Amino acid sequence: MRLLLVEDELELAEPLAKLLKREGHIVDVSYDGDTAWQALHQHHYDLVILDWMLPGISGLELCIRMRLESMTAPVLMLTAKDTIDDKLAGFDAGADDYLSKPFELRELVARVRALLRRPTQIRPDELQIGDLIIDKLNRLARLKNQVIELSAKEYQLLTYFAENQGQLLTHEQIYAYLWGADSEPTSNVVAAQVKLLRRKLDKGFETSLIQTVHGLGYRFNAP
Ligand code: CA
Repeated sequence: MRLLLVEDELELAEPLAKLLKREGHIVDVSYDGDTAWQALHQHHYDLVILDWMLPGISGLELCIRMRLESMTAPVLMLTAKDTIDDKLAGFDAGADDYLSKPFELRELVARVRALLRRPTQIRPDELQIGDLIIDKLNRLARLKNQVIELSAKEYQLLTYFAENQGQLLTHEQIYAYLWGADSEPTSNVVAAQVKLLRRKLDKGFETSLIQTVHGLGYRFNAP
């Protein structure tokens, strides 16, 4: 993954960049907002770490500009500001996560990992996980460019799996998501729904994208 780290404090930027490189990433560092803005136009980044207070364009402004230009890389904001209003301003600007200084480097690394695991929003109405694209507007999926027509429930189920990839979703959670927590569960309805979705999804794959966790539920693994 290619990361852009925008941080004007050398004594923080250097160890951070080193740590992220050790995680296997390519890390570009900008020490001011204007250089960062140029870098954002020169490369595609999978994640951008933005310090709020920067010489030149501020981190907050950079984040707003990125979203205006439909740059969808997740943004992690770093700042000494930690009042709730400042946090909300950061999220309003389109930041995905927020870390107040001082922080432990390992916490930042953990948050970076979590952000990189999230599905990428390529268009506001599309969700991409590996070769799978969920088209929210047309309620269908494309897998390796093959269109998969989905019923309303299949679509809901696939979206639920996609947004929680790699995580165990229990029968109860899936039931509550698809039919509402108040309705009375009927036996095997979740299993039947999963079976229908698998039939459409797993064509061309040796193993199912939806893994059964016996006695508990299911886990979705990105294609
Ligand atoms: Ca700063």
